[in-house]
Amino acid sequence: MDYLPLFLRLDARPVVVVGGGTVALRKVACLLKAAAQVTVVAPDLHPQLAAQAANGRLVHSAAGFSAAHLAGAVAVVAATADAATNRAVSLAAQARGIPVNVVDDAELSTFIFPAIIERAPILVAVSSSGRAPVLARRVREQIEALLPARLGALARFMGARRRAVQRMLGPLARRAFWERVVSGPVAQRVLGGDQAAAERALARELLAAQLSAAPGTGGGGTGEVYLIGAGPGDPDLLTLRALQLLQQADVILYDRLVSPQTLERARRDAERIFVGKESGERAQQQRIHELLVLLARRGKRVARLKGGDPFVFGRGGEEIEVLAAHDIPYCIVPGITAALGAAASAGLSLTHRRLAQSVTLANGHLGEGTAEEWRFFADPRHTVVFYMAVAELSGIVARLRAAGAAPAHPAMLIERATLAQQRIVRGSLATITSLAAEQRVAPPALLIVGAVAGSAAPAAATALARAAAIAAVRPEDAEAVA
Ligand code: SAH
Repeated sequence: MDYLPLFLRLDARPVVVVGGGTVALRKVACLLKAAAQVTVVAPDLHPQLAAQAANGRLVHSAAGFSAAHLAGAVAVVAATADAATNRAVSLAAQARGIPVNVVDDAELSTFIFPAIIERAPILVAVSSSGRAPVLARRVREQIEALLPARLGALARFMGARRRAVQRMLGPLARRAFWERVVSGPVAQRVLGGDQAAAERALARELLAAQLSAAPGTGGGGTGEVYLIGAGPGDPDLLTLRALQLLQQADVILYDRLVSPQTLERARRDAERIFVGKESGERAQQQRIHELLVLLARRGKRVARLKGGDPFVFGRGGEEIEVLAAHDIPYCIVPGITAALGAAASAGLSLTHRRLAQSVTLANGHLGEGTAEEWRFFADPRHTVVFYMAVAELSGIVARLRAAGAAPAHPAMLIERATLAQQRIVRGSLATITSLAAEQRVAPPALLIVGAVAGSAAPAAATALARAAAIAAVRPEDAEAVA
């Protein structure tokens, strides 16, 4: 290691920053956050620094830098635009054994500022030892995405109860207890922002730990089910919460629509159980219910991972009824439903202001449907997205035509939306059935009908990828070498 990572307590201790520009401003902000007593040495100050000096948050010395400024400092930062001054600061600090950071100069620095992920009191610092700041920033983003926003609240919640738990449980039971707290219902409640429910869950865990505190055993504990929407296929379209829970789950029950790439984002050692409906829908759904209850009762954290959103043609409603009936705690994580994923990757606005007044998500196995419903669907100002549309395609087209839709009524099929194999077939009610047959469109696919289906800009399909690429490059908060 080129550097030893440390966390320095600065609370009211003197730190000297030489330089008064924007770079100094960033460093000062960081130092003030850690409650350092900051002196800025510079002839001129950035207006924000001047304001901070005026209200007493820092001390300003307008003199040129001299070694006397360093008296008593626990750290020094050189942030001037002048290389000779920075060098002088570094040499003076090193001669006095004071840690020094020279912005953008690892050679002259004896310490560097890492990229920080802050969920105070939890802090994560990332550094490439000054070699690849862009990579360090990337790592920071990846960790940032994994850590729940309320992680700090969880740390405070646990910290506030440490003493009490210490009194109630022996060392062995205690450790197992905290393990269950961080990875079970208690943490889920705190991270979800429900303090009262967290308190209740904690009381339950504590009771369970006390009841099963036989020597050498960790106690039973309650399992939990996470009903997670996996999105339309592209794993980058998982929500942050989905990702966090997938990293925790002991067991994952997944459907056919969940892409292998998405499954790869789950905890490596989690058990994966395929519960796609191959044989007999009803029997399989029953089996899923039984499995969920059985696994949760064994104390497992079960991720029930479903394509798209769990509540859009996903039978998530039935599953939570079963869980509620068995008193098993669960939480629901919404996902991007196929219609929205498909629309985005086709560059298509489902409710384009000039073209559509509403959008309907419809089941392609619509069965009969009322004549009135079909007249509504047949109006091109209403966008209709049919799920499970491939097998019924000719039936849907016939119903729409019978309800008054014109042969030229725009229709589009999107197969495997958001995945590398995505295909888009554009046509009209007159042509879409034969186009689908010719091109062998197969499930999973969506049928979109209505004026918006005729409007997509062909080159817009890259919009999603571009947005992702832009999000990955965030100039602020650079890991500063220096
Ligand atoms: N809960 C899911 C839908 C499940 S129903 C969701 O919210 O998306 C299954 C149907 O969803 C498929 O028949 C297909 O019509 C559609 N579907 C799911 N993923 C898809 C994808 N990547 N591309 C196109 N259609 C998809």
